[in-house]
Formats: sequence, C-alpha cells, structure tokens
Amino acid sequence: MAVAALLALAVSCKPQEKHAKYVFYFIGDGMGSTHVAAAEAYLAQERGVIGMDPLCFTQFPVMGEAVSCSANHIITDSSAAGTALSTGEKTNNGMLCIAPDSTTQQKSIAYKIHEAGYSVGVMSTTPINHATPAAFFGHNIKRGNYYEIGKELPGTGFEFFAGGGLYHPKGKEGNEEVSLYDMIAEGGYTLAYGYEDFKAKKDADHIVLVQREGSEEICPYALGRPEGALTLSQIVEAAITVLERNPKGFFMMAEGGLIDWTAHSQDLAGTIFETLDFDQAIAIADAFYARHPEETLIVVTADHETGGLALGRRGYDYDLTVIDKIKSASASTDVEKYMNDPQSIDSVNEEARVGWTTYSHSGGPVPVWAKGVGACQFAGRQDNTDIPKKICAAMGVAF
Ligand SMILES: [Zn+2]
Repeated sequence: MAVAALLALAVSCKPQEKHAKYVFYFIGDGMGSTHVAAAEAYLAQERGVIGMDPLCFTQFPVMGEAVSCSANHIITDSSAAGTALSTGEKTNNGMLCIAPDSTTQQKSIAYKIHEAGYSVGVMSTTPINHATPAAFFGHNIKRGNYYEIGKELPGTGFEFFAGGGLYHPKGKEGNEEVSLYDMIAEGGYTLAYGYEDFKAKKDADHIVLVQREGSEEICPYALGRPEGALTLSQIVEAAITVLERNPKGFFMMAEGGLIDWTAHSQDLAGTIFETLDFDQAIAIADAFYARHPEETLIVVTADHETGGLALGRRGYDYDLTVIDKIKSASASTDVEKYMNDPQSIDSVNEEARVGWTTYSHSGGPVPVWAKGVGACQFAGRQDNTDIPKKICAAMGVAF
C-alpha cells in the first residue's frame, strides 16, 4: 500500500534530473498551522493590516500535510514523532528509535545518508540529547535516559552537532564517572562554546557547538534574548560552514525546539517569537538555496501541534497588539518567570482573544513545506513516516 502510494506520487511529479546534493530538514517542534498563522498575523498587524504576511517558508512552492499519530496514541509525543520523521517507522510515545517490541533498533536516515558519503549535521535550540535531535542519532526505550542517549553521539561520526548543551552530562544522579563532554572530546570532536568560539575552531572536521563549557541548558528564548546568545540562525550558519566542505554534499536536521516549550505554557508571545526565529534560520537555508538552486532541497515540517491553539475565542476578531507590549517589556522581564505564571499568560490570551485547548500536544495532521530538488514529492497528504523516505529518494540514497 505504502509503496503504491509513493509510486503514485512519483508519477505525478516530474522525474528528477539529478539528486539533491544539499538537504535541509527543518522541524518546528509543536508548530501547528495556527502557530504559523499567529506569527504571520502578528507581522501584518505590525503594519496595521488585517491579514497575514507570509514567512520565508510559507512561500515555498510545495505544501502538504503529514499525519502525526504514533504507534500507540493518536496524539504523539516528540520522541515517537522524531522517530517517525527520522527512521520512517512508528514507535510508542516515550520511545526513541526502538520499535514497539521494545528491542528492535530503528535506523535514522542520518546514518544511511552518512554511510552514502554525505556530511551530516544534527542541531536544535534544545539540548542535543533531547527528543527530536536525539531521534536522529540515539536509540533508547526511554527518551529521558539522556546520559545513555548522549553516549551514542561520538560513535556516529556525524560532522556537526549543536544545541543549548547536553542534558545530564554526568548522568541522572550526576554521579557517572565520565561526562558526556569528555566522551565527546575523546571521540574526536572539537567542542565549541558559542558562535565566536566556533568561528575560531571552524576548520575542525567534527564539531559539537553548545553555549558554554558543560552546558545543560536550552538556548535562550527568542523573546528577551540576551545579546551574544547562541541562536538557531547562527547554528545553521555554522553547520553550512562545516558541512559544505564535503564535495559529495550534506544533510542537516535543524529543530526549532522552543516553539513547543512556549506552546506548552500557552504563551502566545513566546510562540510567535519562536516561530519567527525558526523562520529566520530557514531564511539562511533559503539564501543557500539561491546560490545552489539546482542542487538543494529544503523541507520544513513539525512533529505535532502543541497547545491546541486557535485564533479567536469570541466574535470575529482577535487582537495581537498585546504582543507588542510584551515585546517592548521583554528586556526588563524575566521571560521564564512570565511564561510560568498562568495569570499573566491567561490575561494575554484573553486580551488577544486566542484560545488553547491543552497544556500538552494535539493530534491533527501537521503542515509540510518544501522547495527545491525533489520538493514535489512532499505535496498532498502523507504520513510522517513517508517524509524521511522521500528525502532519501530525493538524494538517491537507498532507504
Ligand atoms: Zn515535539
């Protein structure tokens, strides 16, 4: 059935003259269609216009949607969704690249593409061993076994990793003898701390970029972000620098991880600014595409929707002017404190007249956008497990 569906799509798509040499795979964690629409409506409202100003990636020529449910729930979590998006196989919520039988390992396309001779990068604004990036290199029956997952990183040989840091570098109890950071350095990786340090170390073959020595944190939220903090845009720039040295080409997965975190808090302002920040990182890939239009594929999707966000809660208007007030105040506001204060969050949602149904994830399909070599395969309805298969097909890598 799945093969027939793929073949049907393939014939409606012009045959690819050549394979994609450079592939960008962007995953907006928790980014449903409405998160994107809220960001676009905010931009339009900034100009005093009713409507939606398109983001970079919403102008991509191909759009589809992907069913996101996991093997055991209609509503997926990030590790099961990450597994589907990285291996083309479903698993149960909470499990990372291990099949529902609890023993069989599932293989991420990052490994397949790397074995085919391409350079590979895995990056996020979360810690590198958090669910979505971890699904591209790790295997564990529990997504929360961060130390065990992190231990797999040096053995991958992937050329570039980046994120806020690494969770549990000395284990859950902090009592492991060897820290993940030491293991990574011993495994032949150069550790770079922040973008300036990366620039000094960029000629190294294998780089792990985090915020600071021993970091266990996420990158700062886009709203109220301190000057000089590590951003997803810088991470994508750094990845291009390292990966494009390989004449064969590259594959990178870059996650906008904090869209999900802000949406779990029902934080409208945070959700909007994280989505805009994710778009800025995609714009860097789009500029790369402009330099290599015959050889580049960009795919943008989400793992699931978070929060059950809706624009409007009574009547025919919502009003995002409150977002500007928060933006102006953000320099003097403790953003994490504000995010975790249900009263201030509720008053913003009330004033903006938007609604949320859950502090968790919701279960509808997620949007998919694509541009470049092989992009037409991503049009229409698909399962989330189809996406990595189509990426391999576009690259000419055996799935
Ligand atoms: Zn997620």
